[in-house]
Parts: sequence; structure tokens; C-alpha cells
Amino acid sequence: MSEKTVGEKLKEELFLKRENGLKNISDEKWEKIIAFCEGYKDFLAVAKTEREAVKTSIEIAEKAGFLPYDSNKKYVAGDRYYVNNRGKAVAFVVVGKHSAKEGVQITAAHIDSPRMDLKQNPLYEEGDLALFKTHYYGGIKKYQWTTIPLALHGVFAKRDGSVVEVNIGEDEADPCFVVTDLLPHLAQEQSKRTLAEGIKGEELNILIGSRPFKDDKASELVKLNILKILNEKYGVTEADFLSAELEVVPAVKPRDVGLDRSLIGAYGHDDRVCAYPALIAIAETECPEKTAVCILADKEETGSDGNTGLNSDFLRFVVRDLAKGEGADYTVALRNSKCLSADVNAGLDPTFKDVMEARNAAKLNFGAVITKYTGARGKSGTSDASAEYVAYVRNMLDKAGIIWQTGELGKVDLGGGGTVAMYIANMGVDVIDLGVPVLSMHAPFEIVSKLDVYETYRAMVEFQK
Ligand code: MN
Ligand code: MN
Repeated sequence: MSEKTVGEKLKEELFLKRENGLKNISDEKWEKIIAFCEGYKDFLAVAKTEREAVKTSIEIAEKAGFLPYDSNKKYVAGDRYYVNNRGKAVAFVVVGKHSAKEGVQITAAHIDSPRMDLKQNPLYEEGDLALFKTHYYGGIKKYQWTTIPLALHGVFAKRDGSVVEVNIGEDEADPCFVVTDLLPHLAQEQSKRTLAEGIKGEELNILIGSRPFKDDKASELVKLNILKILNEKYGVTEADFLSAELEVVPAVKPRDVGLDRSLIGAYGHDDRVCAYPALIAIAETECPEKTAVCILADKEETGSDGNTGLNSDFLRFVVRDLAKGEGADYTVALRNSKCLSADVNAGLDPTFKDVMEARNAAKLNFGAVITKYTGARGKSGTSDASAEYVAYVRNMLDKAGIIWQTGELGKVDLGGGGTVAMYIANMGVDVIDLGVPVLSMHAPFEIVSKLDVYETYRAMVEFQK
């Protein structure tokens, strides 16, 4: 090899280095990545709704020794517990060696994903077919949700207080459901609509059956037959839809994407691709210096409002209970706390690179992406992490040899988006977004890179040591 020139040496010293993390990866590390991602794929396959994600996360945490929070118990360093918020959000805590007054290390991700919810009065019959009316949840491109197999997940809560779980369409032997679309032959008028209007909200109707109940007199016999099936299976009547939460999600399983198997395609990467690494990291945390908190929240896709979202007092009260246990002021604890708001960012898509500013866009396989601020246009609606806090995170990642990059969500004037970071920042906590770059975000089948998932997990482990 020839000697480096002065210029080359100086460049090495002065330039910011970012490179594809897979370029010089060892076989040993690649195997670790694969193993971790297989666990992630298993999690994704069974945790398609916020309720299922909470249930599955608690199962994983209980195996790692977490118990439900007990307000009468005096917790000491190394103790681990969880707080289940209505089965839709959950906080995991591992008590650290230092007092809560010195701050806690929080990871926060969300476990709700864009989807279609059934309306309260969803079932109807028209043209001898039975259908469900839906109300979409979160930001979706509606046309993407037609003509793909769909599954129905959720609960019926009955008047007697019992709750029946529903999960139809995931098993190969199950039937699935579908939103129909117009044939191209008759789509002359539809084709003139804008892409956003190509399929309208009221056209997202789910086809659920076509076979009439055998009777000569009664009307709406297809609907009747569907209700009969539901009644036999779940003991419900049409009125029980009024107190149900039924979510329609793509009936697709997580799969490797690409001949080199470097990518994962699945529904709901946003934001389980950050929730799972955060969960596994805290489950593996033994006795950290500062108390570790991992919060998996609901409602991010609709703005974080509501009692299971992060714009509620849920996290505040978890920290308050922690501080109270040692007679400390929780406001002091919050002020000294640090948080990785773990959420996805947009990855650079070569087909649509015009929406990105390449120097500040995240790329797949370049590692966990740090996002100092989000917001729209002039940074409206964002927490902007302080330079000091970015320096802290940068130092932590570099010292541990974690592959990472920075990324903005698209060009300045184009659009933008938000995460839970600002709600946690508003409590006085230092917060920055760290997560995984995604292609086709909010689509029924989103894409991430395995390396990025693994580096995000490593960042969480480092943060809560
Ligand atoms: Mn998200
Ligand atoms: Mn999202």
C-alpha cells in the first residue's frame, strides 16, 4: 500500500466520516444482527396492535424478572417492575444504584401504527355483500390499503365487563378481508382524482362476506349470516360493536427483503422497530448506574393525546412514584433525566430522492439515526435537543463504537412530522430522537435494514448501562 499524502491524512483527521455499516462487517457481527432480527420478526408477527404489543412485551419482560408495580414495596437497586396502562401502554423500570434525584435514563417508543379502525356502527349489507365501515387511524396513503389481504384484531368489551379478544386473518387457515378497488376499465373518472383522493376515507370499506342466511322472508340476510357467525364465535350481537376496538391491519408476515437478506419488510415497523430494541435493552439491563425506564406508548400516530399517549401524565407519574419511594422530589428527578425518544425517520429512497436534502438525510445501513429536531418548515412543533445533549449522545455512541448517522425528515419546506420527543421535553427532560430509517413509512409493508435495527438496540443498551 502506498503512503498516505498529507492531504489524505489531514482529511482523515478533519472530515466527518460516515459510511455504509455493512461494507466491512465481520461474519461474527452479521450473525449477531441476524439473531437479533429473527427475535424482532417474531415480535412483529404477534404484536400488530398496541394491545398485542403490550401483552407480548410484558411476557418478554416477565421472563426477565419484571413484576407488576407495587406501591407498598420499597424498591432497591436492581429491582425491576412494570406499570401497565390499560393494556395499551406500558412502562418498564430497572432501579439504578443512584438516587432518582440524579435523574433517570428513559427510552420511549410508540407501539401504535397506522391502520383502519372499525367505526362504532360498522356492519352493513349492500348489493348482497356484507361490509364494515372504517375510520382510518394515523397518516395513511389510502390507495395503498386496497386489494391486499387484511386481518381483524381487537376486542369486544361487553356490558357485563367481560372482554373478548378477536384475531382473524393471520393464520394461513383463517379467512382474510379486503378493501376493493375499481377495475381500470371503469376508472376513467377515478383516475382524474388526485393521488390523495384516489381512494377516499369513506371508500375504505372492508368486504367481509357474501353468503345469505337461509330464509325466505327476512331481509339483509348476508349481514344476518355474518352476525350469526360472530355470535357463535364471540357471543356478540350488533350492539357489542358500540363498545369494541377492532383494528384492521395488513395480513402479511414479516419477511426478509432482498437477495442478500439485508432488509426486513413488515407492517408496523413504525415504531415497533424502536420499541423492540428498547424493550430487549431494558430486559437485559441488570443493575444500572441510573434508573432505567422504558416506556412504550400508544396514540403517537394521532398526536399522542389521550390517557395512553405520551401527552398524558403517565410517564410523569411513573417517575413521581419512583422518586416518592425514596422521598425525593420528582420535578428534580425529571429535570436531571435524559431520554432517547426512539422513533423512525425517513430513509433516503433513490426513487424519490427529490424530497430529501441528501447531505442531511438518513440512509439505510448507515446505522441508528439521530434527529436533533423534527417539526414542519420553520421547525414548528418540535423539541430541538440542545447542543450539549447532542454532544453527550454523540460521545456515548462513538465510545461504544455504535454505527450512527443524523437525519432530517425531508427538505425544509416540504413537510415534516413529529414524535413524542416534545412531550417528554416539556416535562423538563433532555430528549433527542434516535431510531431506525424506514422506506415506505406508514405503508402496509415498510422496509428497514437489519444493521440499523441492531445498532439502535446497541445504542439503547449503552444508554441504560
Ligand atoms: Mn413513529
Ligand atoms: Mn408514524
